[in-house]
Amino acid sequence: MPKIAVIGAGPVGGYAASLLAAQGHEVSLCEEHKEIGKPIQCTGLLTGSFDELRLPPKSLQSFLVNTTERIELIAPSGRKIEIKQKEYVIDRSKFDGYFVDKAVDNGAKLHLGRRFISAEDNWLQFKDNNAGRRIYAPADFVVGADGPNSAVAQQFGLFGQREFFFGVQAVATGEFDPSAYQAYFGNRFAPGLFAWVVPEDNKTARIGVAVRNNPRQYFDIFLKELNDKRKSKIRIRAWQGGIIPVYNPKLPTEIKNKLVLMGDAATQVKATTLGGIISGLKAAECLAESLKRRESYAQTWKKEIGRDLWLHLQMRKVMDKLSDDEWNKLMQLMGQEKIIPILEKHNREKPGRILFSSLLKEPRLLQFVHHLF
Ligand SMILES: Cc1cc2nc3c(=O)[nH]c(=O)nc-3n(C[C@H](O)[C@H](O)[C@H](O)COP(=O)(O)OP(=O)(O)OC[C@H]3O[C@@H](n4cnc5c(N)ncnc54)[C@H](O)[C@@H]3O)c2cc1C
Repeated sequence: MPKIAVIGAGPVGGYAASLLAAQGHEVSLCEEHKEIGKPIQCTGLLTGSFDELRLPPKSLQSFLVNTTERIELIAPSGRKIEIKQKEYVIDRSKFDGYFVDKAVDNGAKLHLGRRFISAEDNWLQFKDNNAGRRIYAPADFVVGADGPNSAVAQQFGLFGQREFFFGVQAVATGEFDPSAYQAYFGNRFAPGLFAWVVPEDNKTARIGVAVRNNPRQYFDIFLKELNDKRKSKIRIRAWQGGIIPVYNPKLPTEIKNKLVLMGDAATQVKATTLGGIISGLKAAECLAESLKRRESYAQTWKKEIGRDLWLHLQMRKVMDKLSDDEWNKLMQLMGQEKIIPILEKHNREKPGRILFSSLLKEPRLLQFVHHLF
């Protein structure tokens, strides 16, 4: 049986290790940090598509913090679109821990404090952060699930051209509607993307922005605008943040019989919202499936999620160029009674269904397509 080394015990590496160990592979799971799920660098918002993953029925309860019932999209003008759709707010530390525990239960060997450094032939070099020395371990097959800066991708020459957003988030106290996740659009505080308020309950929310530069400056503008509209002010309890890659469809993600990349290490992130958890977990399922069927991993995941990620990337190109007036116009068109049922029926994991159904009902949406060129 070949030795498989999974590098990175985030949710994607943990899930991949659990699936491969369940198939009977000899798996070692190596994580540079001494504790799983820390530091938190994520909002932990998941669409209902999480239910489609091949997980035991009650798994969600182990890490669920809140279920929101509505998405509120707020245009730069202040106009609000309400979409009835459930989203899960999770505890990211418990979430990562859930997958790693499953991997260990299925027989994977977990090595904490072990940072991958380089590879030569079938030997991997690590820095043991516990003992402060270099160690070497053999591996026939490497799974790079080591996040946006992937040392695995760099060492195997697959890093390529990557573009990043910088996210900054505060866990804050105040008065919040626990049933609604809010996304605020406007170039003042979130050029090209949106700022978010994700409630844990009626007193605590995760508030953040993701931008290409100066995230803290944009965050401060956003917080001020939120506070200006409130009687009781929002107070920050903790800061979090991290980098998020933009999907690059040209990146190679597989060296046959030797290496695969997945999750943020493979830029498998929705370029419109920068959500990468569900697509990364689906890629882990694709790896297990492709090994079982002796098929190409790259072809398997591209068939499963490649088209959707590509569509998000095209939408990102448009979002990058929208002025506030155009955002207002877009939101006015998307907020029409004839479009809302489409937004409520399909979630953002399947952008093709939203795009094509909306265009059929409202051809004026085509006016934004010129931004692609
Ligand atoms: C502010 C912010 C908010 C976000 N909000 C959301 C959201 O609401 N929903 C969503 O779907 N996505 C969100 N994302 C994106 C999401 O966090 C990532 O897509 C997701 O974490 C990817 O999982 P992963 O397992 O591929 O990588 P990671 O979670 O980055 O895990 C990689 C693991 O590898 C380890 N590692 C790194 N290098 C090495 C090495 N050399 N050796 C050993 N171990 C190593 C790391 O310590 C880490 O544990 C957000 C990101 C940010 C920054």
